[in-house]
Amino acid sequence: MNDRLAAVLLLALASLPALAQTAPGLPGAAPPPFAEVFADATLRLDFTFTVDQKTEIVSLDRLRVQGPWAGPRTGLHQPFDYGRYAISLYDLATNRLLYAQGFDGLFGEYRTTTPAQQGEKRAYRRGLCVPLPKASVRVVLASRDRANLLQPVFVRTVDPQAPEVFRLPPPADVAVTAVQQSGAPADKVDLAFVAEGYTADDRAAFAEDVEKMLAALWACEPYASLRDRFNVYAVFRASQERGVSEPRQGRFRRTAVGASFNALGLDRYLLTEDDEALRTIASAAPHDTLVLLVNSERYGGGGIYQDYAASTADHALSRKVFLHEFGHSFAGLGDEYFTSEVAYNDFYPAGQEPLEPNLTALLVAGRPKWAGLVSAGLELPTPWEQQERDRLTQAMQELAAERQQAVAKAKQEGKGEAELKALADGFQPRLEELAKAQKARAERLAPLRGKVGAFEGAGYAAKGLYRPSLECLMFSNAEGGFCPVCQDAILRMVLHVCGGR
Ligand SMILES: [Zn+2]
Repeated sequence: MNDRLAAVLLLALASLPALAQTAPGLPGAAPPPFAEVFADATLRLDFTFTVDQKTEIVSLDRLRVQGPWAGPRTGLHQPFDYGRYAISLYDLATNRLLYAQGFDGLFGEYRTTTPAQQGEKRAYRRGLCVPLPKASVRVVLASRDRANLLQPVFVRTVDPQAPEVFRLPPPADVAVTAVQQSGAPADKVDLAFVAEGYTADDRAAFAEDVEKMLAALWACEPYASLRDRFNVYAVFRASQERGVSEPRQGRFRRTAVGASFNALGLDRYLLTEDDEALRTIASAAPHDTLVLLVNSERYGGGGIYQDYAASTADHALSRKVFLHEFGHSFAGLGDEYFTSEVAYNDFYPAGQEPLEPNLTALLVAGRPKWAGLVSAGLELPTPWEQQERDRLTQAMQELAAERQQAVAKAKQEGKGEAELKALADGFQPRLEELAKAQKARAERLAPLRGKVGAFEGAGYAAKGLYRPSLECLMFSNAEGGFCPVCQDAILRMVLHVCGGR
């Protein structure tokens, strides 16, 4: 940013006395009744975020008026302090805050990667949907600084009646099926599954895959108890080719939403960077939350708060991946694991409490943010033999690799089947010993199952960050569902999106 521009921005900000209210969740004057300031329609603002680690340049591109507003009509200043970004709308005349919503974006994650730290800028499109204001509003986009405080990065007056605001119906070749109808969109969570990588011949397969994912959702608490709070839509636009792009395998497909594996350079990270395609297709159905269902047997997915969840449909673990990623995108949950490969550096800076409801740095008197849910008698932090777990996992991996190498070498030397088998069997006693130690540890920890405490190892960090339970869908694909803290966070989000009813 040049000095002149910085000065202009400062001036613009100085004229915003209510700016402190951009932070969702902060107390402020109650928002006016919905119908007083908003029409029953959706305004989509298409932004471009050009970012590296140090800079964020935000520009507003097209404005579009879309179908009915599916979101809540009360609680327009959302009660959660989630997301690295927030969009706020202010009344021009009174500076009154009309609407505020936190969100995340792939650009926010990119900023923590090594290329971004080296100053490599990348541009990401992102359409944000808000209720359509009846009059001009001031739009403020804010981004978290290193202390997690929201700082404005974009301020602009927007006139929703301006002639350049596009008013296009959804494309004619997008088909919407209402899979479950429980009530008016304003009173329910409107969940839209968007088809990706299904050709015109695969429409029935898509419908089956949606049912498969829904069966998993309704079998999992708290969704099982909240089923009637949801409307569900299946949104289909045929892809020219079946499957999904996987650049590292040299595989490229022309698909409806342009999703791709290898997001941020990771094998299993599956997202789309064609935001325009996704938003345009999704505009055909009322939606509070989107799931990109990808026609592939590979393991993978991704989920970004207030953006969308993506999951493949046909891997043996796809149902769990869907539930996990939907936890991110819908309920703002964080990753509780700390062992898998990620592209981020310093994703949660030391000494700072993560925003996510299921992660804590235990900074405040050693109490987690979920203190009210902690099981009676549990120590904080909660010992869980983390060192023993890491030792056993590492030993198991090393031994398996050693065995594989020994067998491969013997094969190269032309050894026969019987000799190879004997060689592999030779490793068995040591493997069994480790398995026995793992089982013994699991038995010792059995009393902790289902309990809430603060277990060290979470948010991509083995030390310094804590998760609520031994097991959770946000921690691993092991048996079981969400931990009580994640269930509580999901429940609160469902009630909010349903307008508190
Ligand atoms: Zn959890």
